[in-house]
Amino acid sequence: MPLYEFCCKRCRYIFEEVTPVDSPPPKCPECGGETYRLISPVSFKVSDDSALRRIEKRFQYYVNGGKYKDAARFLAKASEYVKNDKVKRLQEKVENKLIKSKK
Ligand SMILES: [Zn+2]
Repeated sequence: MPLYEFCCKRCRYIFEEVTPVDSPPPKCPECGGETYRLISPVSFKVSDDSALRRIEKRFQYYVNGGKYKDAARFLAKASEYVKNDKVKRLQEKVENKLIKSKK
């Protein structure tokens, strides 16, 4: 199943969800509002540079916003699609941040 990005109509929260191509958008995990699909599936099935760049960009977006838990969740999903050491390194990085932020 492809990985899609959704945006909440109410609170603008952006999240990823692995859903069947023709399924309706899931409810917002933050506020339960309606969402819409942002773009065509992220090409995580291809372990190429552009997929990696997309992952890094999204990772950075979460980290910049201090959303380390979201970053970790996202990377866990991304790693199912892209078997790459770089994704693993990003996962280690965010885990370290999570540990630090708890202190
Ligand atoms: Zn919402």
